[in-house]
Amino acid sequence: DGFLVLRDLTKKFNDTVAVQGVSVGIEQGEFFALLGPSGCGKTTTMRCIAGFEQPTSGHVEIAGRAVAGLSPAQRDTGMVFQNYALFPHYDVFRNVAYGLLMDRLHGGVGRRAGAIGSLLNGRIAHRQAEVRDEVARALEQVDLAGYERRKISQLSGGQQQRVALARALVKQPSVLLMDEPLSNLDRKLRNQMRYTIRDIQQRVGITTIFVTHDQEEAMSMADRIALMRDGKIVQVAKPSELYERP
Ligand code: ADP
Ligand code: ADP
Repeated sequence: DGFLVLRDLTKKFNDTVAVQGVSVGIEQGEFFALLGPSGCGKTTTMRCIAGFEQPTSGHVEIAGRAVAGLSPAQRDTGMVFQNYALFPHYDVFRNVAYGLLMDRLHGGVGRRAGAIGSLLNGRIAHRQAEVRDEVARALEQVDLAGYERRKISQLSGGQQQRVALARALVKQPSVLLMDEPLSNLDRKLRNQMRYTIRDIQQRVGITTIFVTHDQEEAMSMADRIALMRDGKIVQVAKPSELYERP
């Protein structure tokens, strides 16, 4: 069955069937890749797991609990986006602390950038020590201990990626969702970050769904790969046993 279970998941947008009858079980601690060409339904599947989208039918369960019934604050997932969606004018501390507030947003980061300054000030002031500890622990997990006061714009691409990861981990979710996190990086950094992400994931031991259109990337990182095409999973296999092509 699995720790994270998709049961006959279907999502339609008007006439478009983005995800069609997807069923799969993912083990606790597994690094699971969703691989397939643009438009095959990877992001929609991910957004259903995150609870950002309501499935048209079927459902998602994490540790035996249906995601659809949970309030945003109860959701047990952390997300890393393709463009990181960090706030470059804020320091690392604020960017990571923001992960503690992301349950207040619906579809993602950045839509209400104007509001976060005051929101953060309120929450940080409200529970200073707790927030400080949570941020410090997350930064430690991504090997950026002590970086709280650094500006995002002064960090390297790889460090920024790790800040985005820390922000996703700061709430200690049981599932980490990564949507094409490497696709905006140059080739060298992309290859290097594969190992960095995998290393952090294994150390934290967090169940991870990794969305990519890059077969080599999925092959080099994942415990198992689900190959998606036209809204369906056409094969689930270990990298060494994958025979279909994306
Ligand atoms: P992928 O992540 O594999 O590129 P998506 O899940 O983004 O695929 O998209 C799957 C299909 O659903 C595409 O045809 C896309 O145009 C459509 N789609 C995704 N989101 C929406 C939306 N909010 N409204 C309408 N159609 C959408
Ligand atoms: P403001 O002065 O705008 O109300 P704060 O007093 O919350 O903001 O924080 C001032 C600066 O110190 C911010 O840049 C914030 O990132 C940083 N900061 C706040 N609390 C901590 C903390 N516990 N550890 C590290 N940096 C912190």
